[in-house]
Amino acid sequence: MKKVLGLIIIILFIALGGFLIYSKFFSETEEEKQQRLLFTSLNKEEVELTKYIVYGTHLNINGSLDKKLYEDNILEAKLVFRDLKGKDQEFEIEYELGNDDKFHFKTSDNINEGINLETLKKGNYYILIKIKQKNLSEDKDAKDKIEYYSIKNGTEYKDVEYYTITKNDKNNKIDISFDKYKENDLNKNYMNIVVKEEKLPNNIYDVVIDPGHGGKDGGAVTKINGTDYIEKDITLDVGKKLKKSLESLGLKVKLTRDGSNEEDLGIYDMYGKGGRAVIPNEVKAKYLISIHLNSAEYKMKNGGIEIYCPSNAKLEFASLLADNIVKSANTTYSPNVTYKVTNGVYVRNFSYSEIESSKASAEEAGLEPYNITTDTPYLFIIREPGGIATNAYVDGRNKDYGANTYYNSNMGVESYLVELGFMNSDNDLMNIINNQDKYVEGIKKSFEEFLNL
Ligand SMILES: [Zn+2]
Repeated sequence: MKKVLGLIIIILFIALGGFLIYSKFFSETEEEKQQRLLFTSLNKEEVELTKYIVYGTHLNINGSLDKKLYEDNILEAKLVFRDLKGKDQEFEIEYELGNDDKFHFKTSDNINEGINLETLKKGNYYILIKIKQKNLSEDKDAKDKIEYYSIKNGTEYKDVEYYTITKNDKNNKIDISFDKYKENDLNKNYMNIVVKEEKLPNNIYDVVIDPGHGGKDGGAVTKINGTDYIEKDITLDVGKKLKKSLESLGLKVKLTRDGSNEEDLGIYDMYGKGGRAVIPNEVKAKYLISIHLNSAEYKMKNGGIEIYCPSNAKLEFASLLADNIVKSANTTYSPNVTYKVTNGVYVRNFSYSEIESSKASAEEAGLEPYNITTDTPYLFIIREPGGIATNAYVDGRNKDYGANTYYNSNMGVESYLVELGFMNSDNDLMNIINNQDKYVEGIKKSFEEFLNL
């Protein structure tokens, strides 16, 4: 009898032990298991992010790996999105081996290029760097060496919450975050991107339209046959029509001003809460279109279109805007060659002398000078909504105006300033007054084509 009891106790212990082992390895959820497999398969070193921005619809990252690699041995390097089923999606990166013996990579030099967030499929992704190297062993049949590295955030910027542009009344929410995976001896930093369908919150918009000037600031004025044409009125008319037109594509659109309560709107209200350079960030817009009309002292026979763009950016959308407006409104590209990059497309950055005079006036006012370079966009409506991508700098040190709450944001709005034509050209002005719909149509068509709406 005693023997039987002893046997039962032994069997019970074995069962308990088995259960404990079972719960350790098998009770983990499928997700936990995939995570464990993923993190145990990674290389021990980590890549450290040195730049991390979302500008318009694109995520752009730079980073480095503190490991001595040899140029000749590297067969390829990719950015990898790995889902929890172990499926990889690869993205191109540029890389170089620095003099600091580190491996450096970037997704793009252009702020509006890199990972297009609009094209990501729903899923939960771990972001890795893959480096494939030649196998240098004697064995000819040995395979090339492929290593994966997790990503550690070395920047001061944390999580980003992004909503994709409305298509067929649907949006995805994209959460970009950083965390640590801890399990026994393993302690890994990682970058995670989760894409899921979610209804666009009320306070989030796709596009912001900024009708230039407003309130006490009328902009340019031209008198033709006794009638005063005021820039702020024309930009408002066009802005309102453009809003309707883009909405017909299913986009959610907000105006920076709609003509009401404009008494208080002055030139210095642009940076504070509700300011025209801040609204696009408040509503997490992907695009900002600022509408203006050019003017010069002298009379011109014909004027034309000018699209002002951010610096260090791909100009595809800007060119599309210029080309489509020219065709649709039967106008021309501006004859102006200053700051011109290509037909109808202009990049206006600070010049050396403007940087010097900015420094001088800061010094005079007893202020720290702004950190501006010849890559910094001169036009505030292009610079400030872009955050760190466009070197926004209105941080409140100048007491003449409010601070841009988003000047240090790593999530910026892609901004374009559209000069419809010249008010000092009667032909241009009359075309704009009489054919507003055609100018609007050109902008609408550009969005339609560019975003495949
Ligand atoms: Zn203007």
